Amino acid sequence: MDYLAVENASKTFGGGVRALDGVSFSVERDEFFTLLGPSGCGKTTLLRSIAGFADLTEGTITLDGARLDRTPPHRRDIGMVFQDYAVFPHLTVAENVAFGLKARKTPAAESAARVAEALATVRLGALAARLPAALSGGQQQRIGLARAMVIRPKLLLMDEPLSNLDAKLRIELRDEIRDIQKSVGTAAIYVTHDQEEALAISDRICVMNAGRIEQIGTPQEIYADPRTIFVASFVGTMNVTPWDAAGPGFPPGFAPDRAHVWAIRPEHLRIGEGRPGAVAIRGEVDKYTYLGREAHVAVRTPDGRFVIQVADPAPGLRMQPGTPVSVGFDPANALFFDEAGRRVAT
Ligand code: ATP
Repeated sequence: MDYLAVENASKTFGGGVRALDGVSFSVERDEFFTLLGPSGCGKTTLLRSIAGFADLTEGTITLDGARLDRTPPHRRDIGMVFQDYAVFPHLTVAENVAFGLKARKTPAAESAARVAEALATVRLGALAARLPAALSGGQQQRIGLARAMVIRPKLLLMDEPLSNLDAKLRIELRDEIRDIQKSVGTAAIYVTHDQEEALAISDRICVMNAGRIEQIGTPQEIYADPRTIFVASFVGTMNVTPWDAAGPGFPPGFAPDRAHVWAIRPEHLRIGEGRPGAVAIRGEVDKYTYLGREAHVAVRTPDGRFVIQVADPAPGLRMQPGTPVSVGFDPANALFFDEAGRRVAT
């Protein structure tokens, strides 16, 4: 049986806003599961429904064999980490972490041991007696994490916990959150609108759009095998071009009949004709963007504008706008989508 099962969840707010529209998925006992999608797609509403801060209009939620949506929030055994840390400023680090145990009337000796263990896990042991105001944002979020974990929840929910941190710290703490989740083995649902974060941290990603699920899959499946044009465009950079059978020189009969647009990643394009059998489109350089490890060359062609990933420094490739080039690629790397945005097999 599924550990967490959300079935046919819908939520309509007053005024007819349908924030969730028939959402179903399941999460395994030790899984790191991420809800990814643009602002307003319903991620937070879904997370709040699981936590018990919001009621579903329709649908059921089951956790470890019990109906969660019929259990009051304080009895759901769920640990929650918030974007804004939500630490109590007048309590020390250790008192913050002990808060949930106190509410559960855990004996003092056991509480002290569990708080020490949770603080060690998030590497805050040395700061136990400090007040949160004397800590950095990253450290405050570690308190949030320790406080959620110390109650040994059945499920850990995290709502954009890294959004308020700077880029470097975000990557550090992201890796740490994943390591901690794997070492304690608690099922986690993580909400983010950052696709790179989702790829890095998740066992599986659920991509949402307008209250519905577009696709659920491993990071590799979501990136390399997107089932809809929405997923293809939302995760990573994708060149999306209207399909015109007379256009870009694919082998005859290669594209599916229902093709409406085709898409290809920058790393699957190259400057130059490439090997025989490859497709080549002629155009001219529009823009060269240096990105450190690599560079992106945007090329304007009669078939559309393409962004191509190249190594940098690439001798001779720091091209001025207007330089004539051809864009080469293997047609097997092209993805086709129908008018409804669904992937069509070649
Ligand atoms: P964000 O990343 O911006 O938090 P989200 O994906 O978490 O976005 P939700 O906050 O779940 O999205 O919102 C989904 C939809 O429901 C949005 O259209 C939002 O405006 C609407 N909504 C959310 N809460 C309410 C509410 N209390 N009353 C009315 N509409 C709401």
